[in-house]
Amino acid sequence: MSEKVITRFAPSPTGFMHVGGVRTALYAWLWARKNKGQFILRIEDTDKEREVEGSIQHIEDSLKWLGLDWDEGPDVGGPHASYIQSERLEIYKKYANILIEKGFAYADPYSPEEIENFRKKSEAEKKPFLFREHRPTNPPEWNGSMPLRFKVSELKRTVWDDIVWGELSAGPEALDDFILIKSDGYPTYNFAHVVDDIEMGVTHVVRGQEFIASTPKFLSLYEALGATPPLFATTPPILGPDGKKKLSKRDGAKDILDYKKEGYLSDAMINYLAFLGFNPGGEKEIYTRKELIEIFDLSKIQRSGAKWSDDKLNWMNKEHMKLLPESEIEKNILERLPEELQNPKLVPLILERISKWGDIDEMVQRGELDFFYKEPEYSKEKLQEKLRYKNTLSEKISENLNLAIGALMEIDENNFTQENIKNTLMSIADSLETRGELLHPVRFALSGLDKSPDPFTIASILGKNETISRLQKAI
Ligand code: GLU
Repeated sequence: MSEKVITRFAPSPTGFMHVGGVRTALYAWLWARKNKGQFILRIEDTDKEREVEGSIQHIEDSLKWLGLDWDEGPDVGGPHASYIQSERLEIYKKYANILIEKGFAYADPYSPEEIENFRKKSEAEKKPFLFREHRPTNPPEWNGSMPLRFKVSELKRTVWDDIVWGELSAGPEALDDFILIKSDGYPTYNFAHVVDDIEMGVTHVVRGQEFIASTPKFLSLYEALGATPPLFATTPPILGPDGKKKLSKRDGAKDILDYKKEGYLSDAMINYLAFLGFNPGGEKEIYTRKELIEIFDLSKIQRSGAKWSDDKLNWMNKEHMKLLPESEIEKNILERLPEELQNPKLVPLILERISKWGDIDEMVQRGELDFFYKEPEYSKEKLQEKLRYKNTLSEKISENLNLAIGALMEIDENNFTQENIKNTLMSIADSLETRGELLHPVRFALSGLDKSPDPFTIASILGKNETISRLQKAI
């Protein structure tokens, strides 16, 4: 491709960013980065009624967290500034006048009630409502207070190529005299985005299937303006875990920054979203950002809906956590632990049990780590119940614990490592009928929990004195 690739992400500030929007941004960003092109952020805020305060900030914060940097956009500027549509009204007016001059636009003199009546009439006749069938013969001059409409000049079948879908087409019923500029002076999405994509030199447009039906209208506008349309790449919908309905807020279509709060890594999120509707083929699934840029290809976007899976996301996140340098893992884990648990020895043990940083908060809240800094509390009954391993009598268990104490005493305090403890306890356990009659009680005596890490790891973290004291207390 000799032409410089220019892609854009053009969100409307109508609420928080969710995974669908992020995936669109990601594909456009990957394609620009892969081709050493430009990635533009453009805010489409011409529907003032739907605007939600704070959305622009939210969009920018989300993209920044994900590392999807833009070369041109609201805060960084660029050759086509402003990148906020409500600040570009003069440009749309200029294009509107070009269309009027060329005979491709006219003022719509009807009141909303009149249009409603046209619509009702079509409904009664069971025909699709087409404004062009009511086109006024002698429209007034456009003074800005009436809507300005596009005038379709040729009713024909529209055929176009989509990078993902191949050839698409629609009959003349897809063409109509749509509104270019509303009576409030703001352009419609249909008009503004075409003008901006032309002005900004956009070469590839990535967006969802909901825009396919309007593409014939966009193409007729490009034609009227004598401009070459960009290439379109239509993404598949993201489906809920059942693979049927569209992803709902409960399943994962929540605020993307919630994932940040929950402690997901942005690299993992990007890896996951890239593969939600794109497949380069092959077995490999864990890709760094750089690798994704290398392998990404718009033509390998899938057509069928992509199914959301929290399990897959969590798995990928864990894999990405493991890729981090040790120091960063330690920093992230210790940062989430209360003061009493600021022990670097806990790091590997915690890492093994989490799939995102936020899981640590839950472990702490559930008190699962408390036994590391305070003696576990358990009732005598529970202890007896726990210590009676299968059919082994508690006296026998006490005897076994005594054996363990004796053997652990032999280990030098400075060599009280997981490995030495394991070797020592295993040699006793192996001499018993079942290993469990030693290991299970030791583990419970140390942690007081039904489920906890293995006794060797716990003992090595607690240290020799504390380990022996807890075993003695149990006896
Ligand atoms: N503003 C549109 C939206 O948020 C953008 C669609 C497009 O990419 O053209 O849905």
